[in-house]
Amino acid sequence: MQLDFFDTTHNTILTTQSYDRFKRELIESNCTRCDLHKGRTQIVVDRGNSKSNIMLIGEGPGENEDKQGKAFVGRAGQLMDELFLEIGIDTSRDTLIANIVKCRPPENRAPHQEEAKTCMVFLKHQISLVRPKIILLLGATALKYLVPSKTKFSMNDEAGKFFTAPEFSETLLMVLYHPAYLLYDARKKTPMREHLLSLRELLKQNDWLPPPPVANGSRSAGISFPTR
Ligand code: SF4
Repeated sequence: MQLDFFDTTHNTILTTQSYDRFKRELIESNCTRCDLHKGRTQIVVDRGNSKSNIMLIGEGPGENEDKQGKAFVGRAGQLMDELFLEIGIDTSRDTLIANIVKCRPPENRAPHQEEAKTCMVFLKHQISLVRPKIILLLGATALKYLVPSKTKFSMNDEAGKFFTAPEFSETLLMVLYHPAYLLYDARKKTPMREHLLSLRELLKQNDWLPPPPVANGSRSAGISFPTR
């Protein structure tokens, strides 16, 4: 059977072994596989470092992300960055951040099941290219869609836990509160900080801890990342 133009583009995105090419092809594809394409400004693939040991996965782009084409750059993203910096992790340098869906849902609603299912083929390939040691699932939507073997859960029970799942045989998983939830309920910052300290300890024990960020926030030249 001959592939049409769309199938060929889709096939290229999902078979490339180059992260940069995957990202470029997906952005340029102008994907219309689900209805979320109708309201987007642009496809938002990520923010951060694709060679990192740590991957963060949220729900979907918001207004700022849609405008800037980068994941987690609004108020919630800024809060997340501050909290991670407290444990010595610069999210742009030391993590790769992505979302369940790559186009902004209307009114920032959660993605519907069909939208998530359709778009996650890209996320799954993205994860296979990054090969993170640990995936941090930000909020219930990321947990629900990426780990369907977890049924009926409460975020208060799951947040802070490390676990493995059949869907990710080679990667450790951890659930964290979504930073937007911390903006809504600031009391959750206390347990979030405790969870991040546990994360830091785990990274340290496994020798996955990145080098300390430079004090003024600028990047130091020649940073080497932990051996994969
Ligand atoms: S959300 Fe994903 S599947 Fe839907 S249009 Fe955007 S890139 Fe395509």
